[in-house]
Amino acid sequence: MKKCSWCGREYPDDVSTCVVDQQSLVSVASPAPEQASGSGKAEIDEPATVQSFLVLFARYVLAMVVSYFVSYAVFFGGLYFLMWAGMVGFVLLLIASGFSGVFVGALCLPQSGRRFGSVVMLVFGLAYYIYFRDKLSENRE
Ligand SMILES: [Zn+2]
Repeated sequence: MKKCSWCGREYPDDVSTCVVDQQSLVSVASPAPEQASGSGKAEIDEPATVQSFLVLFARYVLAMVVSYFVSYAVFFGGLYFLMWAGMVGFVLLLIASGFSGVFVGALCLPQSGRRFGSVVMLVFGLAYYIYFRDKLSENRE
């Protein structure tokens, strides 16, 4: 970048005299380091791009899937517990599987989204639990 030695007006490098006063221009260091290293920095500064949105979306889907399978694994892994713990065991098992599911699922999320993601997964988990419970009671009738 160049700058007029008299009026201070700024010009690109390929201009040699000031259009206002015909004074010679002097080169000045570019005041914008983000122009030089811009390509790398811009990607970080634009979280709203389609690509990063897709990555975020994929992580949420992954968190949901992982959460679902982990809670199932814990649930079925602990079913033997029901034989001697009865209804209390069933409730403990639901809590343990729900907690493990949400916890492991949240680990898949970026740190900034974990709190929100945990709440979303809890809501989904509760909704699924209610659906699951209604299905069980339908089968009993
Ligand atoms: Zn000038």
